[in-house]
Amino acid sequence: MSTYKVVIVGAGPAGYFAAQALQNLETPELGFSIDMIERLPTPWGLVRSGVAPDHPKIKSVSKVFEKIATTEKFRLFANVELGSDVTITQLQEKYDAVVIATGSTIGKTLGILGEDLPGSLSAGDFVPWYNGHPDFANFSVPLDCETAIVIGAGNVAMDVGRMLALEPSELDPTDTADHALGVFKESKIRKVYVSARRGAEHAAFTSPELRDLPKLEHTNVIMNKSDIAGAITRAGSAPEKDVKSNLDAMLLISDLENKGHARTIEFLFQHTPVSINGVNRVESVTYSTPDGEITIPCGLVITAIGYQAAGIDGIPYEKGKVLNNEGHVKDNLYVVGWAKRGPSGVIGTNKSDAATVVEKLVSKLVTPKNAGDVTDLLAGKKHIDQSAWEKLNAHELAEGEKVGKPRRKVVERVQACEIAGI
Ligand code: NAP
Repeated sequence: MSTYKVVIVGAGPAGYFAAQALQNLETPELGFSIDMIERLPTPWGLVRSGVAPDHPKIKSVSKVFEKIATTEKFRLFANVELGSDVTITQLQEKYDAVVIATGSTIGKTLGILGEDLPGSLSAGDFVPWYNGHPDFANFSVPLDCETAIVIGAGNVAMDVGRMLALEPSELDPTDTADHALGVFKESKIRKVYVSARRGAEHAAFTSPELRDLPKLEHTNVIMNKSDIAGAITRAGSAPEKDVKSNLDAMLLISDLENKGHARTIEFLFQHTPVSINGVNRVESVTYSTPDGEITIPCGLVITAIGYQAAGIDGIPYEKGKVLNNEGHVKDNLYVVGWAKRGPSGVIGTNKSDAATVVEKLVSKLVTPKNAGDVTDLLAGKKHIDQSAWEKLNAHELAEGEKVGKPRRKVVERVQACEIAGI
């Protein structure tokens, strides 16, 4: 029996699905020891720090991750950072294969005037802030204005718009970070615009998310009927299935009565942002529209127009992604997930994506190296292994249960390490 050592960098969906793909390829003759490195004290990547807290069902995939992680020959090394604690070259020397699964974390920018004003934020900062990512705990989110604008027409823009427009008590039974919940409860925002630069037929929302919108209990949801009718005409008689499904859902929304709630989310189409205006902070956004330029007053702008990968020394990048040939980077180095293909698809998309890359990886394996592993490199640096994480996880679940939440996240790194017992 040949056992190969594979290290996966990044404990998000793509990383776990890569581990699962390796486990699935095991035979009596072929085995894999899998080490997973994660820079945060907690695993699960975007399932913990990206998925909106009011969508708990999506997070149930974490059960799959835990099953993968509790399989023999899988080890978690959380609180270990590639770049500062270990280098890519060291990992390549020690392991038969290295799989990068570090995602895309940096919010893309518009490159328009006023984007740097206070009150102009990126979803790349706002989303991890409300989800309790330790790096964003002290991030300042000014919700002290009446109107917010979200720029973008994808599911992240939708999540951000919904989080801003929800009645905050709806977040009480969720795992929204305590610090963010406090700020949401003080929020003065009553009107949220979500703006798309193209027509509704091109929106990147997915239809399950659109169909959920009318279920908001304390928020008016507005789409202009003539915008949707125009989009249906432009989409023609045989639109693609996803487009049709989206337009059907949007048509239903455009038929909704205004329920007279204090909070409103309104969708704008064919609104291309031209400038963000203000003196000391955001005061308005100017758009180019088919009817000419319009300026909408607001105190907060959140840009949700996609992400790009943060660079890691020793790994080639191009256009916000790791430079790769269908997942192969160079030598024994591979990449999966958003770092490979850019920020697209839902969590499950990473499963087939990782399986394809792992097949390639396995086909190129030679003789096992037997050159040690990450434990030789850590030089006293304490890491959170699977059992330490399970301790922290159990603590968060128990603290949540006391107050009717699915979990209460420990945000601060030092505290997380203490509770994990390292
Ligand atoms: P996305 O789906 O790619 O949407 C990005 C949006 O930004 C598009 O509407 C795009 O419009 C717009 N945009 C790009 N550049 C722009 C610019 N310069 N000015 C104005 N608008 C601009 O990205 P995302 O929303 O970040 O989501 C990333 C992935 O995660 C997606 O696959 C998404 O479905 C997934 N996700 C899923 C869920 C869920 O299942 N519940 C939740 C969150 C995220 P154009 O089309 O005109 O370029």
